[in-house]
Amino acid sequence: MRILTGGMNHESNSLNPIITGEDDFVVFRGSEITGKGMLPYYSSTGIINTLREAGAEIIPTVLARAVPNGVVSGAFYQKIKNEMLDMAKKAKAKGPIDGICLALHGSMKVEDGKGGNFCAEGDLCSALREILPDIPFTAALDMHATITPELLKAVDGFAGYKTAPHIDCIETGALAASMLLESLETGKKLYTASVSLPMMVAGEKSETDAEPMKIIMDACREKEKTAPIKAASVLLGFPWADAEQNAVTVLVSAIDAAAPADTKLSADSAAAGLARLFWRHRKDFRFSMEFYNSRESMAQAYKAVLEKNERPVFVSDSGDNPTAGAAGDATDLFEAILETIDTADKLPTPLLFSGFYDAPASAACIKAGEGAEIDITLGGNWDKTDGKKIPLRVKVKKISGNFGPYKSDLVLLSWRNLLITVTSKHIGFSEEELLPALAVNPADYCLVALKIGYLEPCFKSIAARAIMATSRGCSNEVLESIDYKKVRRPIFPLDYDTEWSI
Ligand SMILES: [Zn+2]
Repeated sequence: MRILTGGMNHESNSLNPIITGEDDFVVFRGSEITGKGMLPYYSSTGIINTLREAGAEIIPTVLARAVPNGVVSGAFYQKIKNEMLDMAKKAKAKGPIDGICLALHGSMKVEDGKGGNFCAEGDLCSALREILPDIPFTAALDMHATITPELLKAVDGFAGYKTAPHIDCIETGALAASMLLESLETGKKLYTASVSLPMMVAGEKSETDAEPMKIIMDACREKEKTAPIKAASVLLGFPWADAEQNAVTVLVSAIDAAAPADTKLSADSAAAGLARLFWRHRKDFRFSMEFYNSRESMAQAYKAVLEKNERPVFVSDSGDNPTAGAAGDATDLFEAILETIDTADKLPTPLLFSGFYDAPASAACIKAGEGAEIDITLGGNWDKTDGKKIPLRVKVKKISGNFGPYKSDLVLLSWRNLLITVTSKHIGFSEEELLPALAVNPADYCLVALKIGYLEPCFKSIAARAIMATSRGCSNEVLESIDYKKVRRPIFPLDYDTEWSI
């Protein structure tokens, strides 16, 4: 069996003005995909492991991934897409290809050259279909995928993540690959039922440790135990893309039972059941962390440290979370800290703020060197709505280069009783290794403010208390306050009384 694989993974925040370009992506080509590209947080790793175990011949194409950010550059996307299509054509010329299994996000948006954007996955999969019609095609998706008619038409079977934070990437890839293999081995077709709900869910309300996501994901797992269903997925869409297709979509993929009509019936009925379950719980989605606006979050955090001796207290700057595609240089929460700097000065350890994506500030600090005191501005290079350039005279404490797959410079600065991290690349402050790379252990600090949403396990496990600031920025968690122009209305919760039935 010869199986074509590869993928594109980007969550594009259309509220963020940054255009995500070639420098922001890590691209694996050909055999790199089955070598150094086998990373634990790639669904592609699960796809390749499963294909290998089955003894399939893997045809690797291109695997491109970037940290969530603004819409993707049209020129870069076309380049990667063409590379993938050329590789598919060359492989086809060498002999028949039996199936396709891709690792996709599902919410990648690309500049359309007319001031708007289009959905990458639907475009890419349709183009592959033109070259390789009539063979089974499956894809692994992120839980925050946005499903378009083009994608549904091109791909036969889908498997989405069932955990947020996403810790089941490999299992999801494995499921997408095993559906494909079963279809090929049995000669039976895959069928996918799709039900879309007029609803959006704020990212930090989708934690699967908490209800109602727990019950919904358990229901998906239950459905998957019943033949002919192979994968039951609830895709939440991505609320920080102002797009017509924004919705919650239930996808149930099944393999032909004895009679194809039964397969359709089972999948349709399972998808409708899951959609009804989701809709019934629509008003139960809430933040699993205590939450306040930026000013109140800081007030609560100071109180926790100074009066209740709780430490470390974490405050999430959730409205400017780069891993939700925000710019990483909004200043709403930081301004709330500056307004209360006299209280911050009384903290028993410095207040750790991680951090800012600020390439000019990072470059100026690296030029000045460790130990130097310099005047810089922080923030407001990109997000000019909720960010401003804040002038500070800072001391450069530590510099670390070449961090992580995106090769960012990292800088640790101090100003009064604040320690601030700055990155030269748009990367996530949720990365476990970022602070250690600057010789900082977050457990040593009484108050840690992070540009993050819900806490990743590495922070959650040490937090005495976790507060979410519903700060302003491109990943504003209060969806009702976002000025959507393209999202189809009515939609819950923007239109709270939206009705839906199936
Ligand atoms: Zn996601």
